[in-house]
Amino acid sequence: TVQPNSIEARDAAYHLHPYSNARKAEAEGSLILEEGEGIYVTDNTGKRYIEGLSGLWSVAVGFGEQRLIDAANAQMQKLPYYHAFAQKSHTPAVELAEKLVQMAPVPMSKVFFTNSGSEGNDTVVKLLWYRANAMGQPQKKKIISRIKGYHGVTVASASLTGLPYNHMSFDLPLPGIMHAGCPHYGGFAQEGESEEQFVARLAQELEDMILAEGPDTIAAFIGEPVMGAGGVIVPPEGYWAAIQAVLKKYDILLIADEVICGFGRTGQMFGSQTMGMEPDVMVLSKQLSSSYMPISAVLVNDRVYQPVADESDRIGTLGHGYTGSGHPVAAAVALENIKIIEERDLVGNAARLSPLFLSRLKDLTANPLVKEMRGIGLIGALELKQQGDAVGVAGGAMAAACMERGLIVRNLGDTVALCPPLIITEEQMVEMFDIYADALASLSF
Ligand code: PLP
Repeated sequence: TVQPNSIEARDAAYHLHPYSNARKAEAEGSLILEEGEGIYVTDNTGKRYIEGLSGLWSVAVGFGEQRLIDAANAQMQKLPYYHAFAQKSHTPAVELAEKLVQMAPVPMSKVFFTNSGSEGNDTVVKLLWYRANAMGQPQKKKIISRIKGYHGVTVASASLTGLPYNHMSFDLPLPGIMHAGCPHYGGFAQEGESEEQFVARLAQELEDMILAEGPDTIAAFIGEPVMGAGGVIVPPEGYWAAIQAVLKKYDILLIADEVICGFGRTGQMFGSQTMGMEPDVMVLSKQLSSSYMPISAVLVNDRVYQPVADESDRIGTLGHGYTGSGHPVAAAVALENIKIIEERDLVGNAARLSPLFLSRLKDLTANPLVKEMRGIGLIGALELKQQGDAVGVAGGAMAAACMERGLIVRNLGDTVALCPPLIITEEQMVEMFDIYADALASLSF
């Protein structure tokens, strides 16, 4: 119960929470976090938790990183704000754009800055519509996403997202956005189908969808290299190669939503490298700044940039951009964050600790409540067997049991995800899994 006049009570009174049941948040209150240090956060009662999901898959360098605080402070003092409209710029935006183009695993031309993953994906949709007009192909604007893909919540991004809660009662998806099959073998394979056959079927179904819609009406295919919010879904071997072969055949662009995978999560700098993807567009956010500041970046190659530039020249301006596009403080923090990731070899740390991470998860599949284990790099999950008719009973109980024991994780239905900060040590990994295992062992239905 919520104490009158407490911070919890004031939260319940005034705060409409994202991704929460509003009535439940009013009645039960919410957890109030006060501080963070490394992989740990502390609530307002002084209880300490391991942040097993890096906040929202994002605090790569951990909490309380002094270098990011100093970078923000220095930029605040120098130039706390400027925009990038009407041919204005500033050093942090220039340096970050240059750095991202240099880091990209495939040739990229330009960077458009946005403030969130959702805005990044919305920007991609608009740039592709603009491009289609520029190329005299105004019909080539449809975008294919995937069931269980997660791309955000703004109107176009929520349409790209392939999860029911993001469409239900919002009158979405928008027309012209379709959803192809989800590459979750354990969830969608047909009886007796091998992984190879499953991949071949998904590629065939994609081709059928393209042919039914008309190949000249489809601008792009968007996907996360590894799905995150849809339940940590690692596609089977050969999936991206098969999908890319279909896209090439029909001259359809590939957008890699690297919002979770980017900056080391899969054990390489970008998920596209781990998955052998050659995207025309990449969307980056979250670990770009370790979420110390909101920032996202859309990287486009010349196939996208050149027609967009021509169209802006014909019309007179590219009529798109945000007050916060390339915000100098956010850009300065992102630059310092990338420096830390490189200097401390956090990508290497993820790769080195991945076998331990995955084997500890795998060990837990011996528990009869577990349906499946999934993971790669330092992102993973256990999917628990559904209890009764309702999805999320088992997952919710597991998340609550972890929380009680000092570990914050997130359940996506009955899938309980782990995605610790990339700075995690072997010792801390053991500590995290000991809690996770104990929580699992405590469940009984
Ligand atoms: N794309 C992916 C892959 C994500 O995981 C998310 C957020 O979780 C988004 C896009 C949306 O980002 P934001 O919440 O910053 O709008």
